[in-house]
Amino acid sequence: MKSAKCYVRASSLMGYEQFESMNNSFSASPAVIVIGAGAAGLMAAGFSALQGRRTILLERTSDGGRKILISGGGRCNILPSRLSTSQFVTASSPTLLKKMLRAWPLAKQREFFEKELNLELALEEESGKLFPTSNRARDVRDGLVAWNRRAGVELRFDAHVVDLESQDNIWRVHLADGEVVEGSRVILATGGLSVPKTGSDGTGLSIATKLGHTINPTYPALTPLTADPPTHEELAGLSLNVRLETSGIAGALVTEGGFLFTHRGYSGPSVLDISHLPILSRMKGDTRQEVYARWVDRDEEGWRDELIKGGRWRVTAVLREVLPERLAEFLVVESGLPYDRVCSELRRDEREELIERLIRYRLPWTGDEGYKKAEVTGGGVALEEVNPKTLESKRHPGLYFCGEMLDAFGPIGGYNFLWAWGTGRSAGMSL
Ligand SMILES: Cc1cc2nc3c(=O)[nH]c(=O)nc-3n(C[C@H](O)[C@H](O)[C@H](O)COP(=O)(O)OP(=O)(O)OC[C@H]3O[C@@H](n4cnc5c(N)ncnc54)[C@H](O)[C@@H]3O)c2cc1C
Repeated sequence: MKSAKCYVRASSLMGYEQFESMNNSFSASPAVIVIGAGAAGLMAAGFSALQGRRTILLERTSDGGRKILISGGGRCNILPSRLSTSQFVTASSPTLLKKMLRAWPLAKQREFFEKELNLELALEEESGKLFPTSNRARDVRDGLVAWNRRAGVELRFDAHVVDLESQDNIWRVHLADGEVVEGSRVILATGGLSVPKTGSDGTGLSIATKLGHTINPTYPALTPLTADPPTHEELAGLSLNVRLETSGIAGALVTEGGFLFTHRGYSGPSVLDISHLPILSRMKGDTRQEVYARWVDRDEEGWRDELIKGGRWRVTAVLREVLPERLAEFLVVESGLPYDRVCSELRRDEREELIERLIRYRLPWTGDEGYKKAEVTGGGVALEEVNPKTLESKRHPGLYFCGEMLDAFGPIGGYNFLWAWGTGRSAGMSL
């Protein structure tokens, strides 16, 4: 049943008469089935229902949107304030990816949350990220669920989809308890493989594979890197802003921002944003994708000047002026210098070696924290196999994909929700 409120909202999106005629045939129309009530599925289902289609949203968990709840440290970095589309990563065609991104521009997405969902957003100046002013991710998830209900979506939680088949233009969705739900169209929005405890275990990707779709190799992305042995364990908990640089078989990238030493390795936005390249290089059997850290914004010359000027000051004291104390001491000791060495007693070769560690420190990464901690999944359904405007499968009419299932992800900063919201809407609107 549609509420009056929904009637008004829908008419504002598509025009009164068009909506009214659709609304009259709403219950009679064959169902659109959306699988997965995450960011993409909630958007897809809402927009599908607003077009007057009977829409059923099947979600395996008891409440849906669990990644939204844990996103942005519980605050939900809902969108970026600025977008650089070249920062998205895909093994598919970047041109197709950009076409898909253009379908719902950032400004329009922002407007949707502020006007349709009544969710006020605030800019975090230093990061350029947008968050709800309440700083509560729950408001985003609950707002989207409520919007779905107002739009008339039939939400079914604890509905675990295990298979999907089509016969005579009817899609049959099989649930784990044996029930079969039938519909004329299906939108797969089951996410990738990251953080499986939120509900996404790759079922959708297996179904897409079974249906003959090309899945570009999947891998954990935006995940912490590990070092074995854990060389920097004693620095665990220490954080600072750094510049990371990598180049190798998987590509080259520079990231800047927060860096955190963990008990097992390295985390923080700068590490997460670069992590896919070491991971991809390892997948290709090459571990020489070195990652170098520049601990502070000071170049070789700058450090040389400071260390020469330091005179009778201890080397550690000069480093501590701009570096956290524990890291300054670690670097001095690791360079083989006595803790109390003063600058004027530094030999030239000792100074140059220390400078190398300050401006180009090789992180001894050996692995990664995998899907358990990955914010997203790299790889997925090849973009070439979906219509970039409608997101309909080119192999199976009536089947649509959106969100993390597709072969694309972006950096930290709201890019991944932007992708999920945008592709979800495209799939929902196109029906
Ligand atoms: C810790 C963490 C923090 C993050 N923070 C941010 C952030 O601040 N900003 C940002 O832009 N991005 C963030 N992300 C990434 C973002 O959460 C994802 O890109 C986005 O949620 C993907 O949306 P999706 O709908 O495609 O997939 P998901 O959110 O994974 O949703 C998939 C849904 O499908 C359901 N499902 C799966 N299989 C089945 C099945 N067989 N039957 C029925 N239902 C099923 C799942 O239960 C789930 O509800 C974060 C991710 C993590 C893990």
